Amino acid sequence: MSIPETTARALAEAHAVVLLDAYGVLVTGHGVIPGAPEFIRDLDAAGRAYLVLTNDASKHPTTAVKRYAAWGLMLDASRIITSGSLLAPYFAQEGLQGARTMVMGPPDAEAYAREAGAEVVPLTSVDADVLVVADEAGYPFLETLDHVLSVVLYRAERGEPMRLVLPNPDLIYPKRKGAGPGPDAASGARSGPTARGDGWDGSAGPGPDAASGARSGPTARGDGWDGSAGPGPERMEFGIAAGSIARVLEDALQLRHPGQEGLRFARLGKPYRAIYEAALTRTGTMDMVMIGDTLATDIRGARGFGLAAGLATWGLTGPLPADLPESERPTHLVRSF
Ligand SMILES: [Mg+2]
Repeated sequence: MSIPETTARALAEAHAVVLLDAYGVLVTGHGVIPGAPEFIRDLDAAGRAYLVLTNDASKHPTTAVKRYAAWGLMLDASRIITSGSLLAPYFAQEGLQGARTMVMGPPDAEAYAREAGAEVVPLTSVDADVLVVADEAGYPFLETLDHVLSVVLYRAERGEPMRLVLPNPDLIYPKRKGAGPGPDAASGARSGPTARGDGWDGSAGPGPDAASGARSGPTARGDGWDGSAGPGPERMEFGIAAGSIARVLEDALQLRHPGQEGLRFARLGKPYRAIYEAALTRTGTMDMVMIGDTLATDIRGARGFGLAAGLATWGLTGPLPADLPESERPTHLVRSF
């Protein structure tokens, strides 16, 4: 398997539209990825068409751009398509407007559901008809999950299963680089939430690329950003995402109701088609290239939709499996912006 290597700028020049993943490509949970602000500035200066396609359903685009701007990444909210915004077409298509809906997520996630026509009820309710698992944050995690689990199981037992909707199918996300849960974490060497940025100093660690002098910064593989570095402050820190919560609920439903149909989440974000359909509606062209850091979502989704897909090698995905089918392979490896 030989996949051509390139840069994000070269891919942008080769296609009418660039679709950019956010987490792991432009930002982490705690800061901007070095080089991303300059890349966006260059796209703007060259008048290139681009959209950010993100599975994040916890923030409105207007909220996200303020957060990004504070980190020096200047994006217009109109360029962002979130998985949360897919709730509106989904609720319309499924006739769910007016349905009593529990939303696991922060206030912006509830706002997405309201915009879709949902009647949002508290997470302590016992009789909602729809459950939207939008995000892992924004509520007391364990007690809410236990309650929701109980309600979902009870409704399935009564033969009135809830409609389960998952805007963000991601299982994990890159929380920050550096000061991860290595052996030093317990000793207090780990940086807390008040630490500068995302703990990424932008310099390549003692990985194989750095040693050879080939590359630096996020272009270097094996610098710990991909989680492959040894223990210590270079390790990457991960967080669980909404898709993991959905899996727990689905497994519990299967445990109690083995083989019963209809006890699964409807999944809306990458790699599913809806988000790429939304991009196509906006741009009107299939000459789009997706640049993302996750094989299972960004790359598989784009390839399945018939688009070119560059894997950003500074994000979540580790070494590619040798037996990866051609249809799920990135068309390019993106080594740097
Ligand atoms: Mg990503």
